[in-house]
Amino acid sequence: MRSFFLPMLLVIMLSSKALGWGIDAEFNDDIYAQTSLAAKAIKAGVVRYCLDISPAVQNQFTEENTKRTAEWALQAWLSALGALQPPAARVEYVPCSGKKDLRIIIGSAASDPTANGADTQYVTVSADPGENSIDVRLDTDYVWHETRDVSGATNGDYRWHSIADFVEPGQTLDSLIARLAGSERLTLDQFAQERKVAHPYVFWTDYVVFLHEFGHAFGLCDTVDGLFQRYCDARYVSQGEQPSSVMKDSNFFYLTDDDLQGLKALAGRLQQKVQ
Ligand SMILES: [Zn+2]
Repeated sequence: MRSFFLPMLLVIMLSSKALGWGIDAEFNDDIYAQTSLAAKAIKAGVVRYCLDISPAVQNQFTEENTKRTAEWALQAWLSALGALQPPAARVEYVPCSGKKDLRIIIGSAASDPTANGADTQYVTVSADPGENSIDVRLDTDYVWHETRDVSGATNGDYRWHSIADFVEPGQTLDSLIARLAGSERLTLDQFAQERKVAHPYVFWTDYVVFLHEFGHAFGLCDTVDGLFQRYCDARYVSQGEQPSSVMKDSNFFYLTDDDLQGLKALAGRLQQKVQ
């Protein structure tokens, strides 16, 4: 009987190794690499972020809720990086007028339209990475028109909203995210089924997009087919099928094994870049 199990085990182990992480092509540029949040965390031991929420949407995205949501998503990446290169960096909230590593912009992007409703840009204004920062923008004008006739994704229009909209009586925003990201580690599909809402209604939320965009801010690329070939550095990608992950399809409230493999590869690359 034992001889039957060994080949089975090997197949399972091999298939679980089919990881598909990728590192942003721009990461080979020193300025870009040292502006990444991964570099800031390793070098300075702190990541400073600020919020730039348009007055028009401050009722929907309150400063307090957005702080909590952003910090949960930041901590997911920082604690994973800290486990690889201890100690974990801390997070500091700062005003956007001063020095910062990350600016989170929530509002209309009429002058700078984003194709997908959200984007991440490296703002390299100086050779000193301490002066540089990263913009993560949610375009609140963006509307996702769901027309695919997919089960669980009712056709219709979906707009950005806050994960705080899912907080139930007796629950706090922290306890909700702690459950989704930590104690129960749910996929978006599981949570949508539990709350009897369409998948896109869960997908177009701040926490879900922060987790993904912050992956770009650290230095990882999109691993969805098409974008993967275009934006990942061919020298620093895992071969084979790209599995479902935060950096591929954002169907998770937590970092998947593939995201963590990407972060590990990134930290290895950074050791050569950050002195
Ligand atoms: Zn992306």
